[in-house]
Amino acid sequence: MNDPLFSVAGQIVLISGASRGIGRGIAEGFAQRDAQVIVTGRNAESIERTAAEISSDSKTVRPLVCDVSQGESIRTAVESVQQEFGRIDTLVNVAGINLRKPAIDYTEQEYDSIIDINLRGAFLMSQAVGRCMIEQGNGSQINIGSLNTQRALTNLLPYAVAKAGMDHMSRALAVEWGPFGVRVNTLAPGFVQTDLTKKLWADKTMEEWRVANTPQRRIALPEDMVGTTVFLASDASAYLTGQVIYVDGGATAGRMWPLGNEAVSPGKTAKK
Ligand code: NAP
Repeated sequence: MNDPLFSVAGQIVLISGASRGIGRGIAEGFAQRDAQVIVTGRNAESIERTAAEISSDSKTVRPLVCDVSQGESIRTAVESVQQEFGRIDTLVNVAGINLRKPAIDYTEQEYDSIIDINLRGAFLMSQAVGRCMIEQGNGSQINIGSLNTQRALTNLLPYAVAKAGMDHMSRALAVEWGPFGVRVNTLAPGFVQTDLTKKLWADKTMEEWRVANTPQRRIALPEDMVGTTVFLASDASAYLTGQVIYVDGGATAGRMWPLGNEAVSPGKTAKK
């Protein structure tokens, strides 16, 4: 069944940080549903390769170089999309980096570069695209948060600050742009297998901790983020704005403790 309520066919969708990982997975999901997707990243070669790999027809997925740490790069990119397609229906702010170390050890430059890309870059992208959306009187913006949106993990302070800030930015923009028909939400993934995290989960202790903290047990793949992103871009979420949706295999639903863990199969009763 092709339900128009959930359709993104024909939408103009701009995705920051789509050369690999979650952004690429989301881009693929929109392209498969007949949206016109524009994928962006810092490096011309890698973003062109990604666009070519996702699309069998070069018109379907368009590559565009855009470094979100540079305001001018963002404004130029958004202007070129606006000129070519005349509108932007959905923005997905995915671009992000991380550097893990104790809070006490971050240099000023390290702190700034994480905030610049993950928070300031997302805002400048939202602002540039927001201008088009306000003018056209509709649009959906989806910001990619994290488990750190809600609660901070140790040893990644600037990342956690940026993700919490991004969530509040989503709410602030949702309130300000609601009257103009522009919706802004956060999709917060749990643990996803990508270049950003593959070293972490290759470590046995970390992987055991991840499994223990993921009720659904398995690690997410980028394509696990597609359904919720498409939903947030479609008319099915027309009255949903300023919210955060955790796509995390249950990680934020509660906490698991040792009580009764030996009796996990149905029909068995916890012994303790
Ligand atoms: P990834 O595989 O490292 O991909 C990061 C993407 O961001 C790449 O496409 C990269 O493109 C782009 N990027 C980095 N800096 C950029 C800049 N200055 N301008 C434009 N693009 C830039 O990471 P990922 O795991 O897919 O993460 C994507 C997003 O999801 C991030 O915001 C991350 O915080 C969030 N997230 C990830 C996880 C996870 O478990 N993986 C969990 C929660 C949230 P280029 O390097 O080609 O420019």
